Amino acid sequence: MSFCDLSNNLLTFDNIIDEYKQIPEIVWQNVQVHLQNGLNSNNYKTPITDWVGPTTDLYYNEHISDYENTMAFWYRFEKIEAFYSHIFNFDDRQAAQENMNALPGVTQEKILYSIPSLTQIDCENENCFGGANAGIFSGDNKSGWSSIRIKSTDPNTRYYRGGMYVHEFTHAISVRPFLERADLSDITDWNSRMRSFHPCWIDEGTAHYAGLTVASRNKSEYFTQRINEIKGRQVEGFDPTNTSDVMGQIFNQNFYDCVGTPIYEAGYSVGLVIVETLSAISGPDSILMLWKLGSYGLEFSKAFEYLYGVSWEDAKPIIAEIVAKTSLDNK
Ligand SMILES: [Zn+2]
Repeated sequence: MSFCDLSNNLLTFDNIIDEYKQIPEIVWQNVQVHLQNGLNSNNYKTPITDWVGPTTDLYYNEHISDYENTMAFWYRFEKIEAFYSHIFNFDDRQAAQENMNALPGVTQEKILYSIPSLTQIDCENENCFGGANAGIFSGDNKSGWSSIRIKSTDPNTRYYRGGMYVHEFTHAISVRPFLERADLSDITDWNSRMRSFHPCWIDEGTAHYAGLTVASRNKSEYFTQRINEIKGRQVEGFDPTNTSDVMGQIFNQNFYDCVGTPIYEAGYSVGLVIVETLSAISGPDSILMLWKLGSYGLEFSKAFEYLYGVSWEDAKPIIAEIVAKTSLDNK
């Protein structure tokens, strides 16, 4: 069953447990082909307004091409019409806040986040400053934004030099289908579509999968980064090598219940492995088709069965087994 018929190099729910060690290789190869198809397509680019804080030292200046590669990667889905990137250090919080408040058509109600929380304006020192967010405005202009907060102590790793920008743009693009279909005059409509669809692992899983595959410059970099994420994100009280932990603690968690709790962190490790697994079965951008089906108001299990032709109940033990094996291999 393939949503994305770009290659014969795909696995199935019947053979993927036996073949699970091939998953990263298949994902990497198919992503290269798919990304190139996107780059060769017309009209994949969203115009970017690139705001960098006046005193912010950009240690890395290829973020525009990272954003554009992300647009190319998701080229088969609804585009964001304009994108407002904000990159700033601690001292530029106030300027970032003024800039965000002045964006065209933006009011606090339309950003679905609080602007002061995006700029961390209330932080008294760098200890509570840092990280990144992105999303869309719930306005008719269908635009997206990012807030990338650079800390002087941020590690100078490949992830911060590439993957992070792909990751954040992907957060914006994954909620984009909901903007097309939810009744924007009624926030409860948006929330109920999101809630019925939204498993906890899918946000960071989708964003991290794209971040690590699209931004890595070669296969070994991708392999190294994914292992770091799988190994490095331990959650107390959760054992990813245990299938019943995966079934019980990951598969039944809704985003709205888990965001802000420790298990949310498993989205960067277990979520990544889940999305890689689905990518190896159904193609590099198929995960966004799940989001899109969710935007029609479908429950996650219904959306899943439409897309994969296998019920979510039947797929869960297979995916849990792959998560457990992969986590054990990379313990
Ligand atoms: Zn994220």
